[in-house]
Amino acid sequence: MTTRTFSVRKHIALVAHDNKKKELIEWAYYNKTTLAKHRLYATGTTGSMLEEALDQSITKFLSGPLGGDQQIGAKIAEGKLDVLIFFWDPMESQPHDPDVKALLRVAATWNIPVACNRATADFLLTSPLMHDKYEVLLPDYSSYTTRKVK
Ligand code: PGA
Repeated sequence: MTTRTFSVRKHIALVAHDNKKKELIEWAYYNKTTLAKHRLYATGTTGSMLEEALDQSITKFLSGPLGGDQQIGAKIAEGKLDVLIFFWDPMESQPHDPDVKALLRVAATWNIPVACNRATADFLLTSPLMHDKYEVLLPDYSSYTTRKVK
């Protein structure tokens, strides 16, 4: 196992499906002071709404269905994002459902904390680990990457 260090100032990605945007914005507004201590990233529409609500600059990717989920997934794979807050809608299928699955998969692959609902987001944000450096264990994929394919 190798590790990667999350700095005190975490890189947090936020994404919400349309029916969940109001809930995410309310949650983020309630936690405005805490979120201001971290660097925020988001898919396009979620990001614009958050920027307005929080008065904090946010790195915005493309809108989720246009590739934004995949951009966030790529940053997770590169070790550039530490936490994912992803309020996906369990009651409605999305045009980009494969991207949703891919984003959740890549987050699990690289062992980053993920909150898919408000309660988990509350637990995550109030964790003492949010305010300290953290060594995240990276799974050992070397036997996979060095495998011989015939
Ligand atoms: P959006 O994308 O923030 O651009 O609406 C969210 C999503 O992934 O569906």
